[in-house]
Amino acid sequence: GQRIAEIYASGKPVFSFEFFPPKTDQGAENLMRTAADLKESVEPDFISVTYGAGGTTRDRTHSVVTQIQDDLGITGLAHLTCVGASSEEIQSVVQRLEDAGVRNVLALRGDPPEGAERFEVHEGGFGHATDLIAFLQENHDVCIGGACYPESHPEATSAEEDLRFAKAKQDAGADFLTTQLFFDDRLYLAFVERARAAGITIPIVPGIMPITNVAQIQRFTKMCGASLPEKLLDRLRPVQDDPAAVMATGIEFAITQCRELLEKGAPGIHFYTLNKSHATRSVLAALR
Ligand code: FAD
Repeated sequence: GQRIAEIYASGKPVFSFEFFPPKTDQGAENLMRTAADLKESVEPDFISVTYGAGGTTRDRTHSVVTQIQDDLGITGLAHLTCVGASSEEIQSVVQRLEDAGVRNVLALRGDPPEGAERFEVHEGGFGHATDLIAFLQENHDVCIGGACYPESHPEATSAEEDLRFAKAKQDAGADFLTTQLFFDDRLYLAFVERARAAGITIPIVPGIMPITNVAQIQRFTKMCGASLPEKLLDRLRPVQDDPAAVMATGIEFAITQCRELLEKGAPGIHFYTLNKSHATRSVLAALR
């Protein structure tokens, strides 16, 4: 795999996809078919693989990301969180990734495990993504990404404070930042402007989720503190029981959103695919 910072440095719009590791062997097979299908039709620049709550998918994240690199020849980005692991355990997870040829890690704090109210620091572990980023920078030779939040992280006490922590990620060694999903480009553009003014110079990549299901997107946005514009909901509500119509509306909206982002200087688009290829493929086909 290539270092992702080098891909962004090429100056061409970078298109990447996010998958989560399936729970079963059958699911893993389906996912590899989806990835192969995407490779053939749209040639993703890289594919990222999430890290499940509580570190429960550690081995599956590893196997999916290495399979994507080895079998499909697509650069992989392994997500990694601070949840439920000491620094020694994190050290060995990243060492294994490096040994397998994975050169990119998205360093996250992670969400509290199901049922827990607050994030708890694991014994000998890290409390913030910045600590994990500094640790990776010091102990490993990987390209490092971090998360950022155009509408602020739900636990942040202010937008200013949240932006300071985003800057701290760059200072600790992050090479790029990927945003939480959003549906109003103005949120991203305003965030980038504030970030540049605060001294953040690394790429800030918009994370986009084409809507395919109304109830699901309402649940997701509520969970991650992103807003769903009333105007978009007004278009979705009348068709919400017609999956094909929801999909078409979601795709059309995402195309408009991505076009504007790229026109206004976004370095690429990171698609939250939910392991499905149709919506993302349609959006990308229209963009290219
Ligand atoms: P942090 O940057 O640590 O921020 C968490 C909170 O602490 C924020 O409120 C921030 O303002 C505050 N903060 C940050 N630094 C400090 C500091 N030094 N001192 C005090 N306060 C601080 N979750 C998963 O479990 N697995 C995944 O694979 C995954 N992938 C993701 C990919 C992307 C692109 C994004 C945007 C999110 C992803 N998440 C994933 C969700 C993420 O784990 C949650 O949003 C989590 O609550 C915060 O993670 P973070 O890395 O942004 O944390």
